[in-house]
Amino acid sequence: MTVPQIELNDGNSIPQLGFGVFKVDPEEAERIVSDALEVGYRHLDTAMIYGNEQGVGNAIKASGIPREELFITTKLWNSDQGADSARDAMDLSLEKLGLDYVDLYLIHWPRPDLDLYLESWLTMEQLKAEGKARSIGVSNFHRPHLEKIIAGSSTVPAVDQIELHPAFAQRDLRSYGAELGMHIEAWGPLGQGKYDLFSETALQTAAEAHGVSPAQVAIRWHLQSGIIVFPKSNSRERMAENFDVFGFELSTEQMASIDAIDRDQRVGSNPDEAT
Ligand code: NAD
Repeated sequence: MTVPQIELNDGNSIPQLGFGVFKVDPEEAERIVSDALEVGYRHLDTAMIYGNEQGVGNAIKASGIPREELFITTKLWNSDQGADSARDAMDLSLEKLGLDYVDLYLIHWPRPDLDLYLESWLTMEQLKAEGKARSIGVSNFHRPHLEKIIAGSSTVPAVDQIELHPAFAQRDLRSYGAELGMHIEAWGPLGQGKYDLFSETALQTAAEAHGVSPAQVAIRWHLQSGIIVFPKSNSRERMAENFDVFGFELSTEQMASIDAIDRDQRVGSNPDEAT
């Protein structure tokens, strides 16, 4: 099964489908990530605040997979924003992951109330220049936050990782990203199980037509929309199911009927208000 690679605006490539580890218990992270690597995932999305970077790192080491075949993302937590603290946080994440570099380092939330995200971004640019992060990007940034860092630095983020699923399709940010040449990553691509995505008629109809599950249809909708996606599951069976999405293609009509689910329904915090 070949996962498509997406070229980022800095020339690096990212596997379009990966595995996320939000809420993966640190005690279980090594086992769960080892399963994901065995299933075939090569792109892992973690964060300092998930508390499981060490387990992720142990699984990477135990796998014996050559480093260049892996794509590892981690994120700068809110309380580490600022010039020096961002640098220290990067070093600590690398130490926990047991890596010399990450493929992608993201500012986790803009936290406009702290007013430190531009300063943090300038440090991220240095970390990229030093090779500690091959690519740099942001997460949960709205257009004004993006405009501020683009105006104040010389780097357009490689990605913005945002909440995105059929009921919250983020059309405006997606078109702004396309204008900038910045890719969009979806978090909560299955709605985090917080609404009944899998009972939506559009997903069920497409699932029946292709003989796949509604979860596979949702992941396929992200992929065919050009979005980078990394669903999470603790179960090896579901990891394999979520990875097995390259044997069918949604039709234009099926894509349109899933697009029509959009109703501005968030399952997470609004980045403008998050504290
Ligand atoms: P998700 O939408 O991937 O949902 C995960 C839940 O869906 C699982 O707990 C499981 O219960 C269910 N599920 C998974 N596969 C299934 C299947 N095949 N059938 C039925 N149910 C299934 O939510 P997520 O984990 O929050 O998002 C994915 C990743 O995005 C995270 O693991 C993390 O890496 C990232 N993330 C980032 C942010 C951010 O602020 N940047 C926030 C949340 C998540």
